[in-house]
Amino acid sequence: MKAFYSDEYVLPLPEGHRFPMRKYRLTRDLAVARVPDLELVKPLAATRDELELAHRAAYIDAVFDGTLTAREQREIGFPWSVAMVERSRRSVGATLGASRVACDEGIAINLAGGTHHAYADKGSGFCVFNDVAVTVRSMRRERQREGLHPWSFVVIDLDVHQGNGTASILAADADVFTLSLHGEKNFPFRKEASTLDVGLPDGCDDDGYLAALDAALATMLDRFAPDFVFYLAGADPYTGDRLGRLDLSIEGLATRDRRVFELAASRALPIAVAMAGGYGHVIEETCAIHAQTVALAAEYASRYPHHPSSATVLRDAHLTRIS
Ligand SMILES: [Zn+2]
Repeated sequence: MKAFYSDEYVLPLPEGHRFPMRKYRLTRDLAVARVPDLELVKPLAATRDELELAHRAAYIDAVFDGTLTAREQREIGFPWSVAMVERSRRSVGATLGASRVACDEGIAINLAGGTHHAYADKGSGFCVFNDVAVTVRSMRRERQREGLHPWSFVVIDLDVHQGNGTASILAADADVFTLSLHGEKNFPFRKEASTLDVGLPDGCDDDGYLAALDAALATMLDRFAPDFVFYLAGADPYTGDRLGRLDLSIEGLATRDRRVFELAASRALPIAVAMAGGYGHVIEETCAIHAQTVALAAEYASRYPHHPSSATVLRDAHLTRIS
């Protein structure tokens, strides 16, 4: 199984910044320890042309040129830097790359991504560009160009925060079903309308969460027949998360992951997984949760047939090995 990882994910931040940047390398190390044959792949940076599929040109210019206002940078949560642009583009490129690999191999991972708070014309909540929205639009365009039948996409967003940017950008895309399970009282305080939103109360535990997830997945499948799955496997519903406000255990999060992987594997649906958020009081626990997701994905990967010859939407440029 392939996992997209780039050292550019790690953004140098001012002393005392609240974002736990060291989680990326640690997640990578723990994932490789748990899945020794994990293939790390370095993503390309998303191109301007790809970003324009989901973002306004003026916003992309402001990010690329470093002309974001102080207020726009505050809403993103990172000060602008060349490294910040590079990180944001690689993170989208990794979800693009993982999605193309998933078309051939069933499952692939982005060891970052899930930047679901980014809107068409602004960033927010540590998200600059929206990886899933760009990828949906890019895959749709590639399939059109190849003369392939159009696909339907589901976004299963289980980060504890609502996928507001994704819901907003993809609201009018009839071939996309956005599902968000999130803390109702948590950020973002002004929610957007996903195709299906499930707002959970503070303190929701494993049983309450899994019951809500089962109901939501059943509703989704009643209403929609997906060809491709995006999974945002946020580690922030964990009880030990600083920003989560829910009460899930590490075992509960494993069961959550299995429900999603089972849904995809039992229907032979390709699935691209992004890590999304995680802000544990103990960051090693956050990284262990992400590594657990990778290990579970690797278990399910063996259930997919390998079709290297069907590389219809895979571009070799996205497969520059780094180890
Ligand atoms: Zn989150």
